[in-house]
Amino acid sequence: MEKLPGNPDIVFVNRKIAVFVDGCFWHKCPQCYIELKSNRGYCLKKIDKNVKRDKKINELLKKTGWKVIRLREHQLKENFNETFEAWKRNSLIHISTKHVLKPC
Ligand SMILES: [Zn+2]
Repeated sequence: MEKLPGNPDIVFVNRKIAVFVDGCFWHKCPQCYIELKSNRGYCLKKIDKNVKRDKKINELLKKTGWKVIRLREHQLKENFNETFEAWKRNSLIHISTKHVLKPC
């Protein structure tokens, strides 16, 4: 399969739906994000870069007719079974396991 911008975590090819699971910390989740007390320079730069990149990827995908769904890590944790069942019903065909969260 041709690689999509941003390498989505899950892709429903038939329906042109790209799903991203964004880590709450690294993608600045409004619900979970906590301002850092240490190592700010490095982390904040990285987080800002992620947020900008997310926006750019959304635009790129939408331009080529893809629908973008962004789930937050906390949503998946709270509601994993329901989310997963919905994906299966919608003929889930590709799961990437690239998402490994590393501490800053
Ligand atoms: Zn969150």
